[in-house]
Amino acid sequence: MPNTTATPDAALDAHLDTTKDARLESYKDFLRIPSISAIPAHADDCRAAARWLGDALTAAGLENVDVAETGGHPVVYADWLHAPDAPTVIVYGHYDVQPVDPLELWTSTPFEPIVVGDRLLARGAADDKGQIHAHVMAAAGLLATRGAMPINVRYVFEGEEESSSVHLDAWLEANRDRLSADVAIISDSGFFEGNIPAITLSLRGIMYAQIDVVGTDVDLHSGGYGGVVQNPANALAQIIAGLKGPDGRIRIPGFYDDVAALPDEDRAALAALPFDEGEYLARLGLPTLVGETGYTTLERRAIRPTLDVNGIWGGFMGEGSKTIIPAHAHAKVSCRLVANQEPDTIFEALRAYVGEIAPPGVTTTVRYIGGGHPSLTPMDHPATRAAARALEATFGQPPVYIREGGSIPVCASFSTILGLPVVLLGITPPDDNAHAPNEWMDLGNYETGIRTFARMFDELVDLPR
Ligand SMILES: [Zn+2]
Repeated sequence: MPNTTATPDAALDAHLDTTKDARLESYKDFLRIPSISAIPAHADDCRAAARWLGDALTAAGLENVDVAETGGHPVVYADWLHAPDAPTVIVYGHYDVQPVDPLELWTSTPFEPIVVGDRLLARGAADDKGQIHAHVMAAAGLLATRGAMPINVRYVFEGEEESSSVHLDAWLEANRDRLSADVAIISDSGFFEGNIPAITLSLRGIMYAQIDVVGTDVDLHSGGYGGVVQNPANALAQIIAGLKGPDGRIRIPGFYDDVAALPDEDRAALAALPFDEGEYLARLGLPTLVGETGYTTLERRAIRPTLDVNGIWGGFMGEGSKTIIPAHAHAKVSCRLVANQEPDTIFEALRAYVGEIAPPGVTTTVRYIGGGHPSLTPMDHPATRAAARALEATFGQPPVYIREGGSIPVCASFSTILGLPVVLLGITPPDDNAHAPNEWMDLGNYETGIRTFARMFDELVDLPR
């Protein structure tokens, strides 16, 4: 098999140049379907978008196209599996979009795409219909010019990403056998500030719990009982204060045990990102930033785990005064997790530690509300390197590496259910107004992104399996 990895693809470029106008019309057609997954009245539109996508995958020359039932909005699957000696990738994206309100803040109609300068404006133009349309066009271009893909590809496009991907995990579990692959490419992220090509290396997971502290059946008179009974609100405050030290370290024994050490190369890449701490602080309107000793702000918000109280309540919260000892007090507590922390393990550690430090005289319980896994694919992973080469070859500059403090739960689904490394390769501009009025896609990013996605497949030919 010829190694095409360093060869620019003139035939593909020529093909993409001559089909550009038709491609834009197809892109607009896709965007006209109001596939808002969260609104039940749009269920038929979601189904229409799934069918439209299935037809586009078929027209591109892909096989085994399946608009698969999930119990909710369909998953659209297609594949091309005729490269027996080459690796297999799963490409993930979503065809559903966010609701469009507040409508009065849009300068155009959300589902009537229009081109303004280099921008295509419409709900979904960036998140995420534009990215999956680019993927379908990359496949169409490769199959039209070469008659083959350089590697095996399976496409998994879901319709519920903006509604917590309710049915995706079950669908992945049920289809585990037909989803065998070597790597997953998730195209639902974007470029860094200044429209600089970027690869997102990691996302944090989460563990969410509630602490309940209960004393008596009803509130007590603080004059009559103050000084002799434990106050649940005081006890809760004592517990929360015990969870973290003044150095920002979380005191739960074992909390950091599974945190993967970050290679120097990755820390250096993070430090090299353009980031103005003064401007960041000014934007927040705060006197100073705080955090774990020994780590920078960018590290604290992306590569280190956290513990935060998300809500706290109990006792008298009305106007004026009421002299009681509250019967109970509560807090919602969550931890952002990093690789390789497990939400269940962290919850058990929290529960055990709260049990240890809870003061006497009250009943303290900790219950699990929910969790999600962190995900991490290192910079030196061969698939990350391939994505970096594809971006540099097509956009003319090497990517920066970013780490998200939040979560994209589907990343964890591909890594935990299918056991795949995940590469986040997305092409949207950073200020694309995703989820907001006037969402737009940079048509230069879209056109070049098609070449990036095609190039990515060439670069993955030699992926160790
Ligand atoms: Zn998205």
